[in-house]
Amino acid sequence: MANEPDVDVAIIGGGISGIYAGWRLLASPLGSSQPAEWAQKRDGPIKVALFEGSDRIGGRLLSGRSPHMADTTAELGGMRYVAPAQKLVTALVERVLRLPFHEQVVAVDANIAFLRGRLLRSRDLASPAPLPFWFSPEEAAWLAARTGPDQTPSALIQRVLTRLMPDVLARLQAGTLREYLASVQVGGLPLWRHGFWNLLAEGMSPDGYVAARTTIGYDCLGGNSNALDLTAAFFDFVPGVSYRMVNDGYEAVPWQLQQRFQQAGGEVRFGTWLEGFGAHGLADGPQGVRLRFRDGSDVTARAVILAMPRRSIELLRPEGEVLGPSNMAFRQALASVTAIPLFKLFLLYPQCWWQQAGVTKGRSLTDMPLRQCYYWPSGPDGTGVPKPSEPGLLMAYDDLLNVSFWSGLDTRREVQKASRHPGATHHHHHWPLFPRSPAPEATAPGDEYAALLQRNWTGHTATAPMVREMHRQLMLMHGVDTAPEPIDAAYMDWGRDPYGGGVHLWNPNFFSDEMMPRMTQPLDGFPCYLCGEAYSTNQTWVEGALQTAEIVLQKRLGLPALELP
Ligand SMILES: Cc1cc2nc3c(=O)[nH]c(=O)nc-3n(C[C@H](O)[C@H](O)[C@H](O)COP(=O)(O)OP(=O)(O)OC[C@H]3O[C@@H](n4cnc5c(N)ncnc54)[C@H](O)[C@@H]3O)c2cc1C
Repeated sequence: MANEPDVDVAIIGGGISGIYAGWRLLASPLGSSQPAEWAQKRDGPIKVALFEGSDRIGGRLLSGRSPHMADTTAELGGMRYVAPAQKLVTALVERVLRLPFHEQVVAVDANIAFLRGRLLRSRDLASPAPLPFWFSPEEAAWLAARTGPDQTPSALIQRVLTRLMPDVLARLQAGTLREYLASVQVGGLPLWRHGFWNLLAEGMSPDGYVAARTTIGYDCLGGNSNALDLTAAFFDFVPGVSYRMVNDGYEAVPWQLQQRFQQAGGEVRFGTWLEGFGAHGLADGPQGVRLRFRDGSDVTARAVILAMPRRSIELLRPEGEVLGPSNMAFRQALASVTAIPLFKLFLLYPQCWWQQAGVTKGRSLTDMPLRQCYYWPSGPDGTGVPKPSEPGLLMAYDDLLNVSFWSGLDTRREVQKASRHPGATHHHHHWPLFPRSPAPEATAPGDEYAALLQRNWTGHTATAPMVREMHRQLMLMHGVDTAPEPIDAAYMDWGRDPYGGGVHLWNPNFFSDEMMPRMTQPLDGFPCYLCGEAYSTNQTWVEGALQTAEIVLQKRLGLPALELP
């Protein structure tokens, strides 16, 4: 037909939500959906194109392999899922893609808790006496008397939540926690009207709060985000939750979906940054969309799916029906979530010197900016423990203010915010990059995916001061004076553009159960849809990215639910 749009669906953003939506549109039955009508008009399959600004699919799933340990997969972005609770991602990994997975080890009694300059072990966290915190007498008595799985001061948070909402643990057990949290009132107001920290502060001593937040590992889990959503998120990170990881790296999930999407006729265009978009009249009646890219090219479509987080949307031009001033309601709604900076740095050592301190696997903690230290498992199935004399990887992982500590050691222009004037490089100097040791010969990557993972690693070289400082903090927390220097290092600061943060959390006073569906269509009647982790009720997880993609597919476009094998 003359004047057909270039594509039926344009997807912007090749993170997990974008590539998943593309795969679903081309590989699932269309039923009596809108895309089914578009297929009829074309008298053939619909045309779906995915536009990704960077040169890879995966977004915040970023797996990497150092040439020095080519059989071991590091995770610079998302790393694990909660099975079977996270239904969409568990089904996708284990039943659709059938990727090999393993359980992740986190809590180990012999691991370290280096707090306020004191080297303790995880098991010491079970009683308040040796801990360098000023608990109230009543908190100390409760901590000393308690039994049960959570033997760290972070249980104080759970204690306050249980007092305010007596059914919280029973409903968690029953798998109906969210429904309960959405209905419960605290102080005469719905839970979502409260800030999480505000609620905790009333029921904890100041230092009890610090102890709890410190020992949970993530500062954002004690923050002042929406109390409904953060209570739900908190219980994803308490001791006893079991996590699974994909053996080949979490990026294998978007990679596999990309292969299937392209095999089904989907088109992926890399290096294409969307700049802005607006309405475009279609010859056959309904309103379509004209997309404008930074390289000056134009694409018309029947519908556009923005599969990207808050900051990426805010970097688009504030023009057109959806993003322009006539739709202020949407611009304000964008601010209903806050992006949480996250930082990961992997150091590769020629020997596992930390094993002298009695630690081999799982996670250690500290209140220094490195916050969480994972003794990264080695080998292709992700469960190996290297011998002390063998090379090994440590992963440091932190959030919020700690991220600014590390980004201060990284002033390269390309990692700065877009708001910085591009010509202003002479105002700041560049830190030298960490001098990675030359790669051994024998580790040439075997296939395209392996080559991608090596590129991901080498493309995220840390700076020399960042590595030096991390090495110092690691020695300090393990109580050693000397250790071999790292030979390789890779990092990612997710606060940088176009992400603006690693994960998102709802702000107080927004009811996410109502906001989430609303955000999937920013303007009534206009064929622009939005999905991704940022505006979901499973924030901080891939599950949230898939959840909102399914809302767009099923509720907005009318596709049938995913059929599982
Ligand atoms: C350090 C870290 C740890 C995490 N840990 C876990 C975990 O263990 N388990 C878990 O389930 N989740 C975890 N997450 C969260 C998980 O990674 C995300 O929820 C998920 O990957 C987000 O997918 P998305 O599709 O919503 O967006 P993204 O992955 O952010 O994808 C957005 C894409 O859009 C592209 N883009 C942006 N702007 C434009 C434009 N203008 N034009 C074209 N393309 C554009 C970007 O380049 C990117 O590829 C973690 C995240 C981080 C950062």
